[in-house]
Amino acid sequence: MSDSGLITYSAISPSCNRPRKYPISKITPHHMAGNLSLKQIAEIEGRPARQMSSNYAIASNGDIALLCHEADRSWCSSSPENDHRAITIEVANDQIGGNWHVSDAAFESLIALCVDICQRNPALASGLNYTGDARGNLTKHSYFKNTACPGPYLGSRFGDLAKEVNRRLLGNQQEQQETELRAGMALHLTGTSLFAASTSQIVAGTRAGTYYLWGSAIVNGRVRITNSTANVGKSGKVTGWIDATVARAAAGIKDQADDNRGLYTLEIHDCPNRSAYTIYQSALLYDLVQWGYYRAKYCDAAKTKQFIQIGQISKGDADALRMVCNKLSVDVRG
Ligand SMILES: [Zn+2]
Repeated sequence: MSDSGLITYSAISPSCNRPRKYPISKITPHHMAGNLSLKQIAEIEGRPARQMSSNYAIASNGDIALLCHEADRSWCSSSPENDHRAITIEVANDQIGGNWHVSDAAFESLIALCVDICQRNPALASGLNYTGDARGNLTKHSYFKNTACPGPYLGSRFGDLAKEVNRRLLGNQQEQQETELRAGMALHLTGTSLFAASTSQIVAGTRAGTYYLWGSAIVNGRVRITNSTANVGKSGKVTGWIDATVARAAAGIKDQADDNRGLYTLEIHDCPNRSAYTIYQSALLYDLVQWGYYRAKYCDAAKTKQFIQIGQISKGDADALRMVCNKLSVDVRG
């Protein structure tokens, strides 16, 4: 595992795990919530008491620093699960407060750094999937912790970032990748049900992590997956079958950034633990929400009650969902 050749400054933080547990398969851009120079951010991340680090930092003039080797897990996104897989990047803000704007020079360096990371790490070779939640490989700090990071400005540009990185990385192949399932496509699975055959009714197990489409054929609404790019299309190397709709979402084909059905987010509150998920599952059954477009959050410190956010649904679907919640006397907002 190598580090980027784009850096102009390096100061390695003591706050990290050496080495990271998993291969690099994600990128997590953060905002600094400040306009620090590379030396200043390195000084902060270098203090052991701060217990924080990022793999890279980008200053407002576009300069890039290495603060934690790519081979190591940084302490950045409040999620070992994410950070053992992710390259984390702190980006300076040239506006303090408000939209927490990021300079064009810093954003351009972020694109260049992401392209470079994707080129050097095989699990990112097919580019960035921005799904708007933790399933994709371009993740936000806010998916793992109640934080404003990466801020309104940078947060709103993740779709642009993925598009531009993929354009530079993949050129014309990109169009094909975004519209249809094809053999070898990377799938980012999270607890996906696996079946032994296209027709089996019994779930054989669940799979999480990066898998690949074994072939592009859809049989009885399912597709075959495999566990490495080397096994794509090879007989005897099929891990199992998963639903084609799940595969499409896991491949980022239904990209929230391109979803213009009305972009509605609902919060379902005040239900005991797990009921919120049941409501989401019912909504899924009635085709009111897209697979994966939900996020659970706890309302209380004891973590006994949760609410869920369902995003990217049309106003009509949101109205229908609201009606279901009202019938069940469940508090729904938004
Ligand atoms: Zn952050």
